[in-house]
Amino acid sequence: MNIAIYPGSFDPITKGHLDVLKSGSEIFDKVIIAVATNSEKSGFLPVKVRVELIKKAVKEMGLRNVEVDSFTGLTIDYAKQKDAEVLLRGLRAVSDFEYEMQLSQTNSALCDNIKTVFMITKPEYNFISSSTVKEIYENNGDISKFVPKAVDEYLKNKL
Ligand code: ADP
Repeated sequence: MNIAIYPGSFDPITKGHLDVLKSGSEIFDKVIIAVATNSEKSGFLPVKVRVELIKKAVKEMGLRNVEVDSFTGLTIDYAKQKDAEVLLRGLRAVSDFEYEMQLSQTNSALCDNIKTVFMITKPEYNFISSSTVKEIYENNGDISKFVPKAVDEYLKNKL
């Protein structure tokens, strides 16, 4: 079985992330979208909430071969644990490229058989980022165009 891990902060998950996830789910037998827990950064939403919101969004989209999880430690160790040899990442603009290339090459240097596959979203989702969503939300703007219903509802209720 060809399993891919889609690791990230997903703080919160956006329609851009979900577009990458959907494309990945059409290519691989199984995609595990996994929230990476960063011990130094507490983040905007707790990891448990991020996972719950992703689960709701995945259910809403009807993606059957997608699993939602979280992990601590190195992504390559998590991938090994899950029998996955592919990491799925998204590319938005040239500005993402340098960081993503460095990350991908570091992971390959750490683990020989790990490969990173990059997906590019549809143009309408390309400019969306979690940090922009947070900024709009914190300034009382409407984020509904950028995030799945579950995130929009959760954040509206939080206000
Ligand atoms: P990280 O903190 O690991 O960068 P993010 O949650 O910000 O985690 O992003 C996870 C992955 O999704 C990254 O590869 C990022 O480039 C990609 N991504 C984020 N937003 C988009 C988008 N709108 N279109 C395509 N890829 C995206």
